[in-house]
Amino acid sequence: MSQQAVLASPRDRVQSSRNRIEIENVSLRYFTKQAEIQALAGISLDIEPGEFVSLIGQSGCGKSTLLSIIAGILNPSEGSVRVGGKDVTAPSQRIGYMLQQDYLFEWRTILDNTLLGAQIQKRDMKKARARAISLLEKCGMGAFLHQYPRALSGGMRQRVALARTLTTDPDVVLLDEPFSALDSQTRLAIADEVVDVLRSEGKTVVLVTHDIGEAITMTDRVVVLSRRPGRIKSQHQIVFPSMPDRRPAPFEARALPEFNTYFSTLWDELDVHVEG
Ligand code: ADP
Ligand code: MG
Repeated sequence: MSQQAVLASPRDRVQSSRNRIEIENVSLRYFTKQAEIQALAGISLDIEPGEFVSLIGQSGCGKSTLLSIIAGILNPSEGSVRVGGKDVTAPSQRIGYMLQQDYLFEWRTILDNTLLGAQIQKRDMKKARARAISLLEKCGMGAFLHQYPRALSGGMRQRVALARTLTTDPDVVLLDEPFSALDSQTRLAIADEVVDVLRSEGKTVVLVTHDIGEAITMTDRVVVLSRRPGRIKSQHQIVFPSMPDRRPAPFEARALPEFNTYFSTLWDELDVHVEG
């Protein structure tokens, strides 16, 4: 056996790519009493470890459906999803899911809310507590550990929800329109923080958003879905040659010339028009 074959044993390959997402020919049909609704058709997409991908498309095109399939909450009618080479057939602790609504419990402190997932998963609570505190500090919430959610603004609540999602250390983080309930200033501020935290944690991220600007500034690749049934219409790798040394933070990226170019391309692709 060659040296190389020994080094790259299958186990090592699985380990090093445990946060790769492979979506293969996924279709999904919903069945209601009245009708069969095809939400997704033939979606194939590979997402590299540590990559940030956004999914954009008109309301009802199947973005949340695709995220639920990656999370293992829904099983596809056809096709398959693998995370780290393993089929996803049910929700698992490898996959963190953050939604628009923060689902914080009003009767638990910020720290206890953050520890909820670890508690459900019966983790070592001493370690989880240390990690939760460090994540809350990283998210700028270190001064609020023992406060209750009612004391927090919408943006602060989403920071706590992010810390909670990361406390169980998932390989992959799925975000479904996490900022859509926030006002526009808060959205801009929190986008920088969320990207910073997720990149420093080395997560693979899929962000669903209807906000073109968020997609361009927060992610490495924008995937545009067609109207229902959602298919992949196009994909755009996002790069900022005018800032060659590093990736701009989301807020900075909005001021770069590439931003406007990507924006108008994606606007045309989305084919937005007001109905009525
Ligand atoms: P998006 O997140 O892009 O707005 P969704 O994934 O929520 O879209 O929904 C895709 C399509 O599937 C929509 O037409 C929606 O009405 C339909 N749909 C979503 N959930 C269900 C369900 N549980 N039963 C039947 N139809 C559904
Ligand atoms: Mg949705």
